[in-house]
Amino acid sequence: MTQDTDEINPFEQRNKQMEHVKQRMGKIKHKIAIISGKGGVGKSLVTVNLGVGLSMKEDDGKVGILDADLTGPTIPKMMGLKGKKLEVGPPGIFPADGPEGVKVVSMDFLLPNDEAPVIWRGPLKMGAIRQFLGEVAWGDLEFLLVDLPPGTGDEPLSILQLLPEMDGVVIVTIPSEVSEVVVRKAVTFARKMNVPILGIIENMSGMVCPHCGEEIEVFSEGGGMSISEDMDVDFLGSIPIDPRVSSASDEGVPFIIKYPEAPASKSFMKIIEKIEEKVKKE
Ligand code: ADP
Repeated sequence: MTQDTDEINPFEQRNKQMEHVKQRMGKIKHKIAIISGKGGVGKSLVTVNLGVGLSMKEDDGKVGILDADLTGPTIPKMMGLKGKKLEVGPPGIFPADGPEGVKVVSMDFLLPNDEAPVIWRGPLKMGAIRQFLGEVAWGDLEFLLVDLPPGTGDEPLSILQLLPEMDGVVIVTIPSEVSEVVVRKAVTFARKMNVPILGIIENMSGMVCPHCGEEIEVFSEGGGMSISEDMDVDFLGSIPIDPRVSSASDEGVPFIIKYPEAPASKSFMKIIEKIEEKVKKE
């Protein structure tokens, strides 16, 4: 096909964007996607706390979070960045500065207000993600965590395809039978995409009693561990339910900062060590 006008050919534009994505992503040492078989299992909570925890261990400004969950971008709220707008300069789009120097980019920063639903058509969404990946001035990050939309459908699949040279995915699940079926789908999904699976995290696994400190079983715990054995995937750890999660979230302070001594925070730190060991060995 010949081009007889000066108009930008959409295919060329896409290829150019993909080149930018490769260049920018090439400067990031470790890229990890956080996925889940379904929504509401704590994927965003895990992403935020892993990101902040990693940043506590790395130098400031060496960890980034891309909130690519277009259906409900909740990460800015959890990190006290609600209402932020992205600024653009010569090097590209500047990420927002979150707690512990974590750099954050979210679709939420593009929405005019809280009530604006994200009802963009597929191609528009993918264009925005390509732009985020290719034009955000992340700098030389040690880690980029990408919070993918829940499930194993078209959206997470298309975004995962855009991410070059991933270190792997972390699968978040909750301890219930339904979730077991769903998490198997997530494992199959990652395998089909040829992305390494770093491991499974079981969230909402039991609850620590706020009065006596004893652990209470809420659902039937341990599903994550048995799936990981069954499917030959590593088990990274479990995070208990903590009623203070939602208040920390409402205040916009990541849980791991607000309650560093809580069992959930200690679990996050242990999981981080496992992840670091895995990706740095590769
Ligand atoms: P997802 O990203 O998978 O949709 P979220 O991270 O938004 O899930 O979590 C869903 C809801 O569950 C949020 O209101 C969050 O505060 C709550 N939640 C998640 N994990 C925990 C936990 N371990 N303890 C208490 N509340 C939790």
